[in-house]
Amino acid sequence: MPEQAEGGRSPAGVDVEVLVIGAGVTGLYQLYRAREDGFSTVLLEAGEGVGGTWYWNRYPEARFDSESYTYAYVFSKEMFCEWEWSEQFASQPEIERYFQRFVEHFDLASLIRFGTKVTSVEWDTRTSTWTVTAADGRTWVARYVVAATGMLSYPYIPEVEGREDFCGESHHTGLWPAEGVDVTGKRVAVVGTGSSGVQVIPPIAAEAAELVVYQRTPNWCTPLNNAPITPEEQEALRNDFEQIQRTLNTSATGFLCPPPERLSSEDTPEERQAFYESMWNSPGFAKLLANYKDLLSDPEVNREWCDFIAAKIRGIVRDPETAERLIPKDHRYGEKRPPFVTGYFEVFNEPHVSLVSLADTPMVRITETGIETTDGHREFDVIVWATGFDYGTGQLRRLGVRGVDGVALEDRWADGPLTYLGVQTHGFPNFFFPGGPHGASANVPRYNTDQVDYVADLLAAMREQGYDVVDVPEELEQTFTGMIDQMSRHIPFTKISYFFGSNIPGKPVRNLLNPGGRPMLFKFIEDLRAEGYASLQLSRSAEVATR
Ligand code: NAP
Repeated sequence: MPEQAEGGRSPAGVDVEVLVIGAGVTGLYQLYRAREDGFSTVLLEAGEGVGGTWYWNRYPEARFDSESYTYAYVFSKEMFCEWEWSEQFASQPEIERYFQRFVEHFDLASLIRFGTKVTSVEWDTRTSTWTVTAADGRTWVARYVVAATGMLSYPYIPEVEGREDFCGESHHTGLWPAEGVDVTGKRVAVVGTGSSGVQVIPPIAAEAAELVVYQRTPNWCTPLNNAPITPEEQEALRNDFEQIQRTLNTSATGFLCPPPERLSSEDTPEERQAFYESMWNSPGFAKLLANYKDLLSDPEVNREWCDFIAAKIRGIVRDPETAERLIPKDHRYGEKRPPFVTGYFEVFNEPHVSLVSLADTPMVRITETGIETTDGHREFDVIVWATGFDYGTGQLRRLGVRGVDGVALEDRWADGPLTYLGVQTHGFPNFFFPGGPHGASANVPRYNTDQVDYVADLLAAMREQGYDVVDVPEELEQTFTGMIDQMSRHIPFTKISYFFGSNIPGKPVRNLLNPGGRPMLFKFIEDLRAEGYASLQLSRSAEVATR
């Protein structure tokens, strides 16, 4: 059943001009921009509420590890000053409320269709339109589709033998039930020790009768050092809005932290230890962003910082064998995305918490009652899979996107994503995916909203010039993707990371991030704007229809 004109008047032949998929940080902003720019628009969301990541990942202690006010939208001073974050690193319920308030503040609710899971997105070359179909059979004919479906949104649970046989409860952190999971007095297993695992482990340890952590590879975890935001700090945030906005909109990392200026060689060994101590006590990503300038380029400096962290772990965890297992041996600091923790290492001193190293004793199978590893079988009431996501392309490859000549997006990307600016791919005109593959390893919402602004500005400029169809020439896409592959040979991130897709069996190992980051994106956008987007393939739907 076709839906009729959404969010304003639509030109003949379409139900809606800009159709957005996904009500996370990226999609909501795209919806806002489309409406503000005078396009008819609608947003389809599979869930029953807004927030995206912060709607689905509602496990206990899920929280930001970017400072709350650096993650939030900064385009509106009114909204920035109205909303008071209670903590430097807010937790999921507060974050979800923020996005609900955003929708209310900008009066977007009437444009959102909840419970609408998109199952296909098909291009019609004759009419230059997309037909978007939902699981319940509803369809929309749209001129432009923006799939803001997120990078970390398709949960991954490993295909372990017998997984379906388990008779207790099992949950993935990224699909946590809205009603919560009661682990009080229960025997619980947590599989996975990435950012989600290390956040959920301490609150589970506080409730469960027994907790076994199944770790395949340890990460370089350091304290989040969260704190409430005092009234004075709230005031300062409001007063400094313009400067905060400028920094967040222009800095390479999308954080407020200024880039480091000091080389480790400028300090004595004693000064370096004191500096590392200050890093250990610093908030969140400051440990990566405000550390020594040569932390990622000089292996010796990196080793010294890792040794410092390892000593901290040995100092916290009383059992030496457990402490050793919690210390990474396979990667340096910053080669994988570092998690930040609150009371994580301390839980391993609790008598009811134990650690199983899957590197030493691999998982054999899941049984009706528990988990079997090569050193034996343990029984559980609840298994928590904190095993991550099919990063970057997971959702897009499963959205049923069919471009020119019916080409499937997942086939075109069989060897890895091909993109231009991480927002478009050749042969899929008027289809955009801000926040998708080839995003930056920076503060995520900053980069994603840069991409949203690019898409929104492009659509407005096309309308001005009388165009309504845009494709990316294949050469442009090859150049951009080629640059990504080229630069990826010289970056600190190791290929044993979900950033390269290597956590998903059979997934092509390609960098799913843009190593040039925001500076590279800004440069491309600036050049495109200056030439009036002439390098793109712009055309008019009427012309296409009569060909
Ligand atoms: P993740 O970093 O990919 O971690 C997945 C964990 O599961 C790893 O420990 C991995 O071990 C383990 N694992 C995967 N397959 C396994 C298998 N077959 N058997 C045993 N263990 C297995 O996923 P995540 O923790 O959900 O975090 C993903 C990203 O989400 C983060 O890096 C971050 O960007 C974001 N995140 C952010 C926050 C925040 O802002 N506060 C919180 C949570 C997540 P290996 O390392 O050996 O593969």
